[in-house]
Amino acid sequence: MDTKEKYARYVNTAFMSKVQPVVFEKGKGSKVYDEEGKEYIDCFAGIAVTNAGHANPDIAEAAKSQIDKFFHCCSYYYYVKIVADLAEKLASITPGRLQKTFFGNGGAEAIEGALRLAKQYTDGYEFIALHASFHGRSLATLSITGNATRKRGGGPYMPGVAFMPPPYCYRCFFELEYPSCGLKCARFLEETISFSTSGAVAAFIAEPVMGEGGIIVPPEGYFEKIKEICDKHGILFIADEVQSGFGRTGKMLAIEYWDVEPDIMVMAKGLAGGFPLSAFIARSEIADSFKPGDHLSTFGGNPISCAAGLANIEFLEKNHLSEQAAEKGAYLMDKLNALARKHTIIGDVRGKGLMVGMELVEDRSTKEPSSSGGSIQAECLEAGILMGVGGIYGNVLRVQPPLVIEKEELDTVVDCLDRVLP
Ligand code: PLP
Repeated sequence: MDTKEKYARYVNTAFMSKVQPVVFEKGKGSKVYDEEGKEYIDCFAGIAVTNAGHANPDIAEAAKSQIDKFFHCCSYYYYVKIVADLAEKLASITPGRLQKTFFGNGGAEAIEGALRLAKQYTDGYEFIALHASFHGRSLATLSITGNATRKRGGGPYMPGVAFMPPPYCYRCFFELEYPSCGLKCARFLEETISFSTSGAVAAFIAEPVMGEGGIIVPPEGYFEKIKEICDKHGILFIADEVQSGFGRTGKMLAIEYWDVEPDIMVMAKGLAGGFPLSAFIARSEIADSFKPGDHLSTFGGNPISCAAGLANIEFLEKNHLSEQAAEKGAYLMDKLNALARKHTIIGDVRGKGLMVGMELVEDRSTKEPSSSGGSIQAECLEAGILMGVGGIYGNVLRVQPPLVIEKEELDTVVDCLDRVLP
């Protein structure tokens, strides 16, 4: 039985939505190789995870040396040095007074912890999230996810969640234009608090750049306005950096593009270069509202993952990969904008750094979403390029490669898109 047959028989493939018929065996840098040895340029990085490149030797070395010490230790009773070292590093690279980290394994788990911490600190019990957001697949994280496609079959969801329109300028829910809109989508937080909650709001949560929703970049001033309103009402601002973090957008953390300090920040995906690790970090007085024994994850802060995480961040810093992402992203966006002048299916090109989306439409004036995303993705695969597809209408091509990708490889990607786009 080959791998695909074993999957069909033994793997619950609920996590696979549009299966691509390829079995991967290994990777190096920005490339991955299938079992027949065919090479692919990876423009998705395992959903924005392998920012420092596949099989990064520095990360591998750090993980291997930790493996030789031990794989796991009981975090309930004992201290482990590498956990403290990574937590210290996270405090130094995250904005403002964010200082104390709780470690988990995956994004959803860390978001859950952040929600619980916000409740404990504020005594509030409600949350405000955005339409088109995505925060994970557990019950609480689906409850704050603003997308029916992801939530189907999982309800009823957690009460006490209010949603408000996202900062999606290309499809503004208020049908306004920036900047004459006066940031209506941010100001609407006031109305949401007044009319969609009981006033006991613990936190507002948002992705600094919305990933699964279709690489949606909020306009300038958005988060400053949001934070101002949050502060006025004693509501915490949780930044979900699970997808946008670790150099991806051209900054170590995407929220650095705005002049705000989140109260809690959640990280995962790119944190440990492919090893399972997540974290939420908060100011000391917020973190300390958890009392000893309040929260625990058996595998959270796994020493191998923490060693990988520390090596990953050091690699990103040493090689200036945030700056590289900013520069290569600008280069790519120029080229994609040039493609947009040729291919009318491209309705919008947007992004920050190497978190880039290209929204496909049937018609530029009506903006009717195109259904060609999947077939374009399949043609790219055939040509040796892995491409992501997302967005609330499934019509956004996502280019989120390892940040070590070379400009010549980006040229190859653009040439391929030029060939396959109608
Ligand atoms: N938050 C955001 C912004 C995400 O993009 C994701 C995953 O795509 C999650 C949370 C959930 O992370 P995980 O799949 O590790 O649970």
